[in-house]
Amino acid sequence: MRLARVLAPSGSQYLARLTPEDRVIPIVQEATGPGRDPLREALADGLDLRAAPGLTDDFPLQDARLLAPVRAPEKILAIGLNYADHARETGVEPPKSPVTFVKTNNSIAGPGDPIRYSKDDSVQVDYEVELAVVIGRTTRRVDVDHALDSVLGYTVCNDVSARDAQFSDGQWVRGKSFDSFCPLGPWIITGDEIGDVGRLKIQCRVNGKTLQDSSTSEMIFGVAEIISYLSRVMTLQPGDVIATGTPSGVGFARTPPVYLLDGDVVECEVAGIGVLGNRVVVE
Ligand code: MG
Repeated sequence: MRLARVLAPSGSQYLARLTPEDRVIPIVQEATGPGRDPLREALADGLDLRAAPGLTDDFPLQDARLLAPVRAPEKILAIGLNYADHARETGVEPPKSPVTFVKTNNSIAGPGDPIRYSKDDSVQVDYEVELAVVIGRTTRRVDVDHALDSVLGYTVCNDVSARDAQFSDGQWVRGKSFDSFCPLGPWIITGDEIGDVGRLKIQCRVNGKTLQDSSTSEMIFGVAEIISYLSRVMTLQPGDVIATGTPSGVGFARTPPVYLLDGDVVECEVAGIGVLGNRVVVE
């Protein structure tokens, strides 16, 4: 099943199911106000999103605008250097345990939203396609064998990174958390439909040219291991997002380097989920 947040032609925003025929079935009308997140709140209320009745008449997806499927999670966790091919291209030893950082909620952007930055703040803005996990229930100290039971589903993340800020700061939060540097979407595919999450083709195209082309089989730490590892010390909450790392082909490791410039179109794709497209606006 596909779960999405949409802006309807009426101007209302909904958490919704999408049918195979690309029709939108609204299930929760979005509450307004800072910090509100219909997905997180519905999950916290124990709503079974797969069985929830429709709220109003369905309508065609082509008449709606897709929004980031998660708007205000408690946390966005991200894993660095988690693909063997990416560790090789950056010349670092594969880590012995997951390298963990956070992206802040201000960085969330939806499908089709601009990736914005000012040249005064960075001249090395890079793309990173990632498989993102959306947690479905409160999870603490789950073992690897049961970790996937905590997953609601999967979406695509572009872990946009200002390399100059990332590397000069000595830690990564600022360079990874500019406004709009965490595009998410286009929707969430529930865990029961993804198949083997360790064997998904993962790609990034910039202006139609494929610059990342790999498989989640290159992950050093798999999804279940990451969830188990993080949940040992951090209680994972419904709606939390975990970006699981990027494969090789990122811009700063290329010769010559490739950075995102005004007007560039970035398309991040994970097979079985969909394509997340965003245009770059340099201010
Ligand atoms: Mg990343």
